[in-house]
Amino acid sequence: MKPVISVCHLNHYFGREELRKQVLFDINLDIYSGEIVIMTGPSGSGKTTLLALVGGLRSAQFGSITILGNQMCGASKQHVMQVRRQIGYIFQAHNLLTFLTAKQNVRMSLELHDKYLEQDMDELAADILNAVGLGDRIHYYADNLSGGQKQRVAIARALASHPKIVLADEPTASLDKKSGQDVVKIMQRLAKEQGCTILLVTHDNRILNIADRIIHMEDGRLIKEADEHKVLSG
Ligand code: ADP
Ligand code: MG
Repeated sequence: MKPVISVCHLNHYFGREELRKQVLFDINLDIYSGEIVIMTGPSGSGKTTLLALVGGLRSAQFGSITILGNQMCGASKQHVMQVRRQIGYIFQAHNLLTFLTAKQNVRMSLELHDKYLEQDMDELAADILNAVGLGDRIHYYADNLSGGQKQRVAIARALASHPKIVLADEPTASLDKKSGQDVVKIMQRLAKEQGCTILLVTHDNRILNIADRIIHMEDGRLIKEADEHKVLSG
């Protein structure tokens, strides 16, 4: 079986000349279809940078990143755009458009895909909002939703178009314990139903139990890849 995400000898630098600083060191990582992989590690260790490179939000400089069979290093802008459409992104700050309702926010992500243009996108958006438990909030403006509800809209938006990959960067950071666990459980359930692969960055120990595998970043290096969540979560 070929990995969905394959990172090989990836090095990354920020800045130029005397300010040039290496932030990722020889990263090697394979993630297979349907896996939920959680990446932990201290602040500043390079987690967001790696996620942005894997998601085609930043261009890779040295090494190789293959996403769904596409080499991202040196890929054209159009090629990167094509790959990005198959990825759902969920960030710490939900990035909802506050002047749109929950349903309109979700609908926008469907409008990027030709295959949905002939379908009833309002109905599809309402269905996925139902699936994240927001059936009674679909006409609410983002500003009038709680933090946990906004993050559930963000999950609905990311998963509405059935992406093959979901990348999540500290999706529970601004949530209390209960809402944090609720949103990752929803993400886990939808991902399993849709057969999608998740790479999720967190330093929230309370959600490690949803992972199939945990990897750890420190000072720009992936230091271990183990089933340590079994130990951590008892
Ligand atoms: P994490 O997500 O683990 O907190 P980041 O990937 O955000 O870590 O950052 C890794 C390192 O790269 C840090 O030292 C950070 O200061 C640096 N860094 C991140 N983004 C930039 C940038 N746009 N320009 C320069 N340095 C950056
Ligand atoms: Mg980060």
